[in-house]
Amino acid sequence: MKQPDPFTPTTAPVDRRLTAPGLAVTVADLVAVFVDHRPGDLPSCGRCRHRYTTAAPLCPSRTLAAQLLKRRQHEDRRAVADVAAELTAHDTRVLPAAGPPAPVDPGGLFAVDAGWRKPKTTGRRPRPAA
Ligand SMILES: [Zn+2]
Repeated sequence: MKQPDPFTPTTAPVDRRLTAPGLAVTVADLVAVFVDHRPGDLPSCGRCRHRYTTAAPLCPSRTLAAQLLKRRQHEDRRAVADVAAELTAHDTRVLPAAGPPAPVDPGGLFAVDAGWRKPKTTGRRPRPAA
């Protein structure tokens, strides 16, 4: 049986560059991920589609890259120079509260009424119509 890859995220999408084992990820890689997952004017991350909310104002990749960069920025000051100010900047965005996720396919082909239940059956075959 194939073992699951421990570096494959199953719950939260994390940029593959951050899941390189050991110290294979360079400070320049971290800067690249940090920039690629920069929150813009959109309600979600343009790279990984993370929906920004007050509970999760940044996507997992951006959060992880920022934490690692703060710890490792001394390793490559030149690579970090362009984003150094951004690393410590205060987030001034107004974000929506974390609510239930939007329906993936509202009113789509297989939309099911939320109150729908499987009809009860008697276990008997229906009588053939006379
Ligand atoms: Zn992202």
